[in-house]
Amino acid sequence: MAQAQLSIDLTALRANWRSLSEMAQAETGAVVKADAYGLGVEQVAPALAAEGARRFFVAIAEEGAELRRILGPRPEICVFSGHMAGDAALIRDAQLTPMINSIDQMLRHVEGLPGHAFGIQLDSGMNRLGMEPAEWRALRGIALAQKPSLIMSHLACADEPAHPMNTQQLRSFVDMTDGIDAPRSLSATGGVLLGPDYHFDVTRPGIGVYGGLPFLDARPVAFVDLPVIQIREVLPGETVGYGNTWTAERLSRVATVAAGYADGILRSMGHQAHLWAGETRCAVLGRISMDLIGVDVTDVTGDPDTLELLGTHQSIDTLADWAGSIGYEILTSLGARYNRSYTGA
Ligand SMILES: *Cc1c(COP(=O)(O)O)cnc(C)c1O
Repeated sequence: MAQAQLSIDLTALRANWRSLSEMAQAETGAVVKADAYGLGVEQVAPALAAEGARRFFVAIAEEGAELRRILGPRPEICVFSGHMAGDAALIRDAQLTPMINSIDQMLRHVEGLPGHAFGIQLDSGMNRLGMEPAEWRALRGIALAQKPSLIMSHLACADEPAHPMNTQQLRSFVDMTDGIDAPRSLSATGGVLLGPDYHFDVTRPGIGVYGGLPFLDARPVAFVDLPVIQIREVLPGETVGYGNTWTAERLSRVATVAAGYADGILRSMGHQAHLWAGETRCAVLGRISMDLIGVDVTDVTGDPDTLELLGTHQSIDTLADWAGSIGYEILTSLGARYNRSYTGA
């Protein structure tokens, strides 16, 4: 079989959520947008519900409807994009809670679905989603009379604890929400780590649950192993791969593994990329192709059946560093071609 293997450790996932939840007095939600950061919402969401998550967050109403089918009627499902034109039936039928981002969305919501649950998203400085202070001042009285189930904002620089933007956004959020009788939420993974001032009533971790930075103590959740199709000898002076970008300087053994950039193994990782054969670190040779990668196994004893890309030796953030990216992008790029297996529950 030449199918690459993606194993997802649901026990580690649950342990990460539990650790983040123990860091705060607040209720801990779970962000499962983008198919649970690419790891499979069908398996991930029930595992987090079993661990105690009661409030889930998705990016768009369509994801919310899918999640409702998976989780059944009880958990609250909040939609960051709010109430978009055309969403009313989905929001009603799947009992979703849109996080209202503007006066326009508020009007659409109360006209289309009077009495239906909603939350409020405020912009505390990131300038991405949510109402600005002036807009919020205009709507506040009307919105609060309808009893929002959550009032939230999002931090732009929470992965840099010393960044002045954190306290600035905290102040802005407090200014906009102090004295309000509704649960408040400001923090994703980074904010949870900033400490209790940032926790409010509900936290919204995503990446830390999936094993990524800035949660340094996260257990790895995703494990990727690539099958070796062929091993060949390459003479000094011979080249490997497209564009002849790597030339052998010694008699080398080159393994060709069955995965490539179509599997989210970013081409931009370039010559820094490595895989592992047991305890031996093996360099990627030449360019990463769509479905194949050449790997130096000269120093490996025997012929390995598979090489490890993600596991105990290197994390999503190691790969992200090679590619000038972030762990989030590594996870959400993994793609549909893997043979996926889930361990734990
Ligand atoms: C994605 C997202 C989160 C989760 O962020 P992480 O950094 O993955 O923990 C929380 N809140 C909002 C608004 C988001 O868009």
